[in-house]
Amino acid sequence: MHEKCGVVGISTADRDVARPLYYSLYALQHRGQESAGIVTHDGFQQYEHVEMGLVGDAFDEGDLDSLNGSNGIGHVRYPTSGSVNNCCAQPFSVSFKSGSLGLAHNGNLINTDEIREELAALGHAFTSDGDTEVIAHDLARNLLEEDLVRAVKRTMSRIHGSYSLTITHDETVLGVRDPQGNRPLCIGELDDGYVLASESAAIDTLDGELVRDVRPGELVVLHDDGSGFDTYQLVETEQTAHCFFEHVYFARPDSVIDDELVYEVRRDLGGALWEESGIETDVVMPVPDSGRAFASGYADAAPEGVDFAEGLMKNRYVGRTFIMPTQDERERAVRLKLNPIKSTVEGKTVTVIDDSIVRGTTSSQLVELLYEAGAEEVHVRIGAPPIVAPCYMGIDMASREELIAADKSVDEIREEIKADSLSYLSIGAIADALGTSDSNLCLGCVTGEYPYDIEGEQTDREVERPAVGHSSADD
Ligand code: AMP
Repeated sequence: MHEKCGVVGISTADRDVARPLYYSLYALQHRGQESAGIVTHDGFQQYEHVEMGLVGDAFDEGDLDSLNGSNGIGHVRYPTSGSVNNCCAQPFSVSFKSGSLGLAHNGNLINTDEIREELAALGHAFTSDGDTEVIAHDLARNLLEEDLVRAVKRTMSRIHGSYSLTITHDETVLGVRDPQGNRPLCIGELDDGYVLASESAAIDTLDGELVRDVRPGELVVLHDDGSGFDTYQLVETEQTAHCFFEHVYFARPDSVIDDELVYEVRRDLGGALWEESGIETDVVMPVPDSGRAFASGYADAAPEGVDFAEGLMKNRYVGRTFIMPTQDERERAVRLKLNPIKSTVEGKTVTVIDDSIVRGTTSSQLVELLYEAGAEEVHVRIGAPPIVAPCYMGIDMASREELIAADKSVDEIREEIKADSLSYLSIGAIADALGTSDSNLCLGCVTGEYPYDIEGEQTDREVERPAVGHSSADD
């Protein structure tokens, strides 16, 4: 299961949070379009509304009115290729002896089966095969014996993988980021409360101020009266595994992640792309929208005479080509989605810039389209290294067999997409633009070596996999 999602949690003094949660989910819609959900608590009772579809379709006025309480969480979920599965829509909510829990999860655990089997043997009944329910049951069990902070610590010592979570335990809202900080999570301040969100764009939408990122291995507990928050560094981390692809493609360009404005990172990557493999053509054009910041950085770094142009028009009503189940449909979708502006292309040499090549469908269709529109040469520049391996940590990236770079050299890919030239960005340029070393990034999809211990795959570091079975908060 590949879950690429957005999470949010809000506590205010006494204002109902259903609407601020709803606006935040709108701001995070790019992180998931399959389902949307909100769980709130008013001090007496937990309320929930989870529905398939886009945020705007999942809730009506009545739904929002029925979600009472000044504390709550929300979730948007990304479609897994081909499957529409409402058992995995979130937040996951459940009531136990130890209280009501709601959980919203972005990421992917890699030892879910072990924990599920162990809990099932102890009598826990599961309604889905998702990992979020496993976290909920484990936490509920620990809450029978421990206070909230110790219970979360114990659960963190058992689960392995990538997770940014927002959780309600009765009316308390908490946020947890996994010890490697694989997925983003940040804290914001509102006039009358605090917010936890996958991306700072959600905080901006609420007129809030970004306070800071949640640190890897940190638990943040919002005060239920909106007056502040407490933090607990539950797991110390020496080495992080931030997902570089958040900066390259997934996050909104107007979000700040790990202290970097995503738009500026993409512009820097575009500049680096020019330095590494710039070619002087009449025009430089982005693949909208994902290539825009890269193309602007690239064109700025290029000498005068290489003009930035909008040469491709995007039909914004076409969904992501990625979710089309067959290759034929994917090719058609590129044509529906992107159309060249003839005057910027005809008789010109063209460089077209995108953030990434996954299956190669977009680039091969685009090269053909640009030639049909009269381009004399078409050069392709990509703001990320070749994607050679799947993502196990929460980005729906396609399987190894579908990835064009999994078994082809750059030259073979160039031939297949029929471009005059093709260059990707180096891994070093990514680490430089992010102001970190590559050992603190998750680069699994471009190196095939993962910062986690994934069955059948190579790891790029010493990883300690927590043993399921007995584990104490003081371990
Ligand atoms: P492809 O056509 O399969 O080579 O996919 C490349 C296009 O998909 C690029 O325009 C990317 O911006 C976009 N893309 C990259 N990664 C993803 C993803 N995980 N989900 C959806 N689209 C993506």
